[in-house]
Amino acid sequence: RCVIGVLALQGAFLEHLTYLRACGAQAREVRTAKDFDGIDGLVIPGGESTAMALVAARTGMWAHIQKFVDSDKPVWGTCAGMILLATEAEGAKAGGQSLLKGLDICVHRNYFGSQVHSFEAAVKVRPEFQERLGGAAELPGVFIRAPALLSVGDGVDVVATVVAERRDVHGAAAEGAEGSVATSEVIVAAARGATRLVTAFHPELAASKVWHELFVTMVEASMAGAAAPGGVTTA
Ligand code: GLN
Repeated sequence: RCVIGVLALQGAFLEHLTYLRACGAQAREVRTAKDFDGIDGLVIPGGESTAMALVAARTGMWAHIQKFVDSDKPVWGTCAGMILLATEAEGAKAGGQSLLKGLDICVHRNYFGSQVHSFEAAVKVRPEFQERLGGAAELPGVFIRAPALLSVGDGVDVVATVVAERRDVHGAAAEGAEGSVATSEVIVAAARGATRLVTAFHPELAASKVWHELFVTMVEASMAGAAAPGGVTTA
């Protein structure tokens, strides 16, 4: 059984532990440096990315999280966690945001607007990921002050999109007055090999565990790859 840590400095970590355990993984909270010992993968949960980064910096945890990310072990960022994993962030106060730069993605912190614009919507899964996500072409997504991906770099796969209104009033593309709205298809989940997964929505608040199952599979594949002769990397 793989051991998966869930960063528990701030935000929605409890539900992740429950879901990961239901998927057969051993799951534990990561609060201090020693909690990284023996974990095969890490979940950075939703919450508030600036607050999470500040707590991590103040407690000295930032360097340990960065070290884990840099080790190229599997990391899954949801919502605020997706923002923290990005190489680049746009949106409100994005300039003051520390980033782990663990995945080549450009994220908008509040793409769908503020709290009042939290919503549920069907997430469209790309065909090549459907089999690994329970065979579904669409999955329910809970979006809470959610970010979205403006672009993904080379080697990063788009996993899912959503058709929704962009309501940020600070972004460059939101022309004119408050409430400017444009509906389009936007990237809300991406992955790189067996070591990176990001989701803009909250899979730990959905009824199905398929996203947790996907991550557990990635962690197992990454462990098998590392154990293989010559340390074959999993693609
Ligand atoms: N947009 C939020 C942020 O900047 C993330 C919201 C969430 O994690 N639910 O951190």
